Amino acid sequence: MRPNWVILIASGFACATSADDPMEVPQSPILYRAPDCPAAIRAPVARPLARLGKRKRFRTFVSGTVPGALALTHGGAASRPELSNGPQSAANRALGLLLSDAPALEAAIEATVVLEDDPRFNAGTGANIRLDGATIQMDASLMTQAGEFAAVAAIERVKNPIRAARLVLDSPHVLLAGEGATRFAHRLGLPDEVPTSTHAAEKYEERLNELGERSKDGTLDFDWRRYWNYEGEMPEAMKHWREHGDTVGAVTRDRDGAFAATLSTGGTSVTLDGRVGDVPVYGAGLFAGPYGAVACTGHGETIIARGVARRVYEALASGTPVQDAVYEALADFPPRIALGVIALDQFGWVVASNNEMAYGLAAEEDVSPSAAHQRE
Ligand code: ASP
Repeated sequence: MRPNWVILIASGFACATSADDPMEVPQSPILYRAPDCPAAIRAPVARPLARLGKRKRFRTFVSGTVPGALALTHGGAASRPELSNGPQSAANRALGLLLSDAPALEAAIEATVVLEDDPRFNAGTGANIRLDGATIQMDASLMTQAGEFAAVAAIERVKNPIRAARLVLDSPHVLLAGEGATRFAHRLGLPDEVPTSTHAAEKYEERLNELGERSKDGTLDFDWRRYWNYEGEMPEAMKHWREHGDTVGAVTRDRDGAFAATLSTGGTSVTLDGRVGDVPVYGAGLFAGPYGAVACTGHGETIIARGVARRVYEALASGTPVQDAVYEALADFPPRIALGVIALDQFGWVVASNNEMAYGLAAEEDVSPSAAHQRE
């Protein structure tokens, strides 16, 4: 019922006028209404599920009904399936905890830590070095069955940003950003260390080379040099570059049937200074509640604009099978706009992506390939 209130109140603001006595404490929610407003404001009718033509095929893995504890992880949009042993170890770690009756959130966090510590992924230790060739900024978020959300954005000098997001959960805030987030994490005991790796340095070099190539073949689509807003000088070799995506994420269901979702990323490295993606934005990159958990990866700006994770969650909360809910979101993303989603509800799970995507799955009950099937 609560989402309807939000819709009604939001619609009412479009026709806002002043209340009779603005100083009086309202006894019930007020719908502000101007004289030219329609008498009744209706919640928008849900759009029917997109009919997916034959052309719309995504790399997808789905299960039938799977009871018990379950952990599902991803290694980021466009991450190569050969890297799946990373997300698989993370899922195994989460399942081990779930089988000792750990809550869903703890398991999702520990799975994310495994991936943050794996330099092959763009999070924590493997986080992208940004365009200036010097700085690393990361985002991480989490959400629980009870709808609690916590995030850090543009945090620096912590090895495990997901642990910083967990600390935010115990604070009065939902999102801490920049230097404040970094100092908060250090103050609460996370070591002050730059998470870097030779892998990230190599990836940075590759990108610069690629930018150089693209500047030659005329496929540049944005003049990063013109908008340069980092503190330091622009590296000489910097031209343009295609985005990499290797954010990590986890969704878990514990033995009590509670859900949690986590995400952690070094962000896209070809960005202006100050850019924040979907990961720490409420409703965008992840969502969880009593009906399930959803974690996305891909083009952050589009994921924010479409509120992808919340949209998928609301579809499955209204009874749409989890794979259809995910498919509907993906139908809006052509392959050039990367989107990968992992989701689970009380019945089953789905992994789907319009590009390649490494993922891992571990469950209390049998989810061997015979129980799952590829839908491509
Ligand atoms: N969604 C992330 C971001 O835009 C990147 C990714 O998933 O690879 O920051």
